[in-house]
Amino acid sequence: MTPESLPTSQPNDTDISSSSPNSSSQCMVVMYHYIRDTEPFSSQGVGGLTTRDFRVQLDALCKHYEPIDWPTFFAWTQGRTDIPQRAFLTTFDDGLKDHVKTVAPILNEYGLRGVFFTAGATLSSQIMLAAHMLHLLLAQLGDNIFQQEMLSYLSQHAPERDWWSGMDLVKAERMYHYESVSRGHLKYFVNVELPIDLRQHALEHLFQTHIGSPTRWSRHWYLSWDDLSSMQTDGHTIGGHGYLHDPLAGMSLSDQWHDIKRVASLLHDGLGADLRPFSYPFGSFTDGTKNLVKQAGFAQAFSTKRNMVMGGAGPYDLPRVDTIDVDAVISEEQVCRHP
Ligand SMILES: [Zn+2]
Repeated sequence: MTPESLPTSQPNDTDISSSSPNSSSQCMVVMYHYIRDTEPFSSQGVGGLTTRDFRVQLDALCKHYEPIDWPTFFAWTQGRTDIPQRAFLTTFDDGLKDHVKTVAPILNEYGLRGVFFTAGATLSSQIMLAAHMLHLLLAQLGDNIFQQEMLSYLSQHAPERDWWSGMDLVKAERMYHYESVSRGHLKYFVNVELPIDLRQHALEHLFQTHIGSPTRWSRHWYLSWDDLSSMQTDGHTIGGHGYLHDPLAGMSLSDQWHDIKRVASLLHDGLGADLRPFSYPFGSFTDGTKNLVKQAGFAQAFSTKRNMVMGGAGPYDLPRVDTIDVDAVISEEQVCRHP
């Protein structure tokens, strides 16, 4: 799976910094989602890394950069400590079971400490998040049948609009440039065009019909409180990823506040009062969101904008580098350092 950022991102947000070797320290914050070797994930429906590819990437990162943990990263961005000239920090979005089964043991073996961003509703309500129901349905049904089934559901339950033909295809293709055209249209349609409640109901209906009980799946799909506690005890950092994992920029400020505050309180009550970072679901936020994340007590927030973090970076708009771009960034940086 690759990150999904709303089309508010401008192309120039994605430039890679090309600092000289004499510039001050910088940190590559790497963003991961699925890391697993088992089905149902293959190239169909969802991308991700195998554990072997994950190890290869960690080896490359350790060769070119020095690992730091989140407390060190946070202290550096506040000017309270130095970090190596070229540092890296690993982050994992979505609170997936993979992260305790496969990721944490590998990080522990490498002596690395990662950041794990979890969505509150997967802990308190045992729902399947829309993004993951969509991935599983696309893997199970394929694009064409999924589209037919989704449009059939909408024509029965929300016939007041022709949802599909109102879609902005240019925006869809820009946002999902890494997908095939048809899959990009489908993902944009479900994630951006459909109202949140309608999307959730439609996906739950299709999921129940074609895959199984969302509640039962949720128990195996997401990290539990025990998982999070043991990872935290091992020195990893647990952060917030929204409560319902919805794109925040499309919500009213009061709805955003409700969502962000809810996950902040949940993590505080379940894991303790430690300072924690936040990761914007779908990389979606506004200036108002940043303020709300701060007000809810999160120390920092990470986006999906592709860049290195430089000293003095804004604390609630921290860029990351997706796993699929890491090799390219390492190569570009090598060229900059050794022209
Ligand atoms: Zn996410």
